[in-house]
Amino acid sequence: MIKQPKRLVLIGRSLGHSLSPTFQNAALQHAKLPLRYEALDIPASALDDAFQELSLEDGAGNVTVPHKQAVFARCDRLIPVAQRAGAVNTFWFERGELIGDNTDVAGFQAAVRQLLQREPSGLTVGLIGAGGAAAAVLAAVESWKGCKALVQNRTAERAIALCARFSSFAQPSDVDELAREADLVVNATTVGLRDSAFPVDPSRLRPSAIVLDLVYRRGETPWVKAVRARGLRAMDGLVMLIEQGAAAFERWFGFPPDRDAMWRAVH
Ligand code: NAP
Repeated sequence: MIKQPKRLVLIGRSLGHSLSPTFQNAALQHAKLPLRYEALDIPASALDDAFQELSLEDGAGNVTVPHKQAVFARCDRLIPVAQRAGAVNTFWFERGELIGDNTDVAGFQAAVRQLLQREPSGLTVGLIGAGGAAAAVLAAVESWKGCKALVQNRTAERAIALCARFSSFAQPSDVDELAREADLVVNATTVGLRDSAFPVDPSRLRPSAIVLDLVYRRGETPWVKAVRARGLRAMDGLVMLIEQGAAAFERWFGFPPDRDAMWRAVH
């Protein structure tokens, strides 16, 4: 980072339930930085004005649904992992230029390491979803040794298009094949976010399968609970959320946040 930001924001829509302000503000306070992380509910039509203002204020921040692709398109420079994922969740300005990064990739990697208790390699990854988060998952899997991905999505055309961008190791699939073959099953859809639906029935998964739900909720998601009740190892999206936020904090300030302070804030 060239210069520390003077304003920190989260740009998205319907941000009332986001935990990011809670744990980022705890980290700022712990580091004695005189800043507040603010959630800004901004429609697509107001993005131009918002970034113009942030540029003048030495602003930085995160981007969430539905603006990750729109901000990707407006960046002057992209960190390679954001380029690969095709989406930006973290930004800052350098000499007036808007720089975009994607720390969802690092957040996902950290969550998988914690879940597996080892470096991921030699895995068949069953990925459900084909949106921005699914692209970040594939950008991470690409760096793992000897792994392949089976991708299933409600809208099959989107799975086909996503796999075409990662064709050396990813192929479109269906629920049957994914459940039969995947060692690591990842939910990158919004299923379970506001309902109690399951992305795939836990009884169909291999007994040795390990499950990572990118969705998070206070008290864990119904799918994670159901998968665990079947005796499988499972984790929800909270570790990934904290880790993507910690990686973003480090990009903005040049030093890591206190992760314990972040965790205390969300418990
Ligand atoms: P997105 O780009 O809008 O993609 C949404 C995905 O969900 C698409 O694959 C979509 O399928 C699928 N979907 C939506 N409703 C569905 C339904 N009723 N049945 C089946 N599939 C459905 O969103 P995103 O940014 O990828 O985010 C996806 C999820 O990941 C969200 O729940 C988000 O909270 C979570 N996430 C978590 C973290 C974290 O740090 N834990 C980080 C990023 C994202 P179609 O293509 O058919 O519409």
